[in-house]
Amino acid sequence: MSKGLIVLDPGHGEKGNPHPTREGFYEGTQNFILGCHLRDELESRGFEVKMTREKVTDDPSLQERGQLAGKNGAILFLSLHSNAPGTEAGDRYSKIRGAETFYSVTDPERNADLASRLTEAVVKTMGTSDRGIKTRRHPDNEDWDYYGVIRASAQSGCKTALLIEHGFHTNPEDSAFLQSDECLSRLAASEAEVIDKFFS
Ligand SMILES: [Zn+2]
Repeated sequence: MSKGLIVLDPGHGEKGNPHPTREGFYEGTQNFILGCHLRDELESRGFEVKMTREKVTDDPSLQERGQLAGKNGAILFLSLHSNAPGTEAGDRYSKIRGAETFYSVTDPERNADLASRLTEAVVKTMGTSDRGIKTRRHPDNEDWDYYGVIRASAQSGCKTALLIEHGFHTNPEDSAFLQSDECLSRLAASEAEVIDKFFS
């Protein structure tokens, strides 16, 4: 019997957000490769997995991505990203690194627990710094999440909804990790282990 359905959301489309450190690498493609590894790891542990992007070229809307979780009764919606600083970072643009996780305000205690365990695993596996776990509320309604995918997941019924920023693709060290298929495979294994423990 399945341990439950998990929806994985590799952020952006194929050519979304180029890595400035090395030509030919894109956040949207590397997120997809990480998602495929994580799908395999979770399936081998007895979970059922749906991806919001079945092909690397898929790029559904934020709402479609989040709603896939609620519609199908998922136990977890997990959006996979890497980060980039805003232009206000100035000279520090390429120096800023580290992982952080945003989680839905609709089930804050449970989500914070899973978010901190996942962030700890990502920080350890990537050898990067810990930027902590966070929520961000919508400016129009503070019961809503700011991020579209998290909000759509929670509002469609899947309140265990998280978005992980796996370091900064603008930072040479974090980016080098994210460009390696072998590193992404190790990252997926460490996340699957945390998820399996949390839901078992
Ligand atoms: Zn992103």
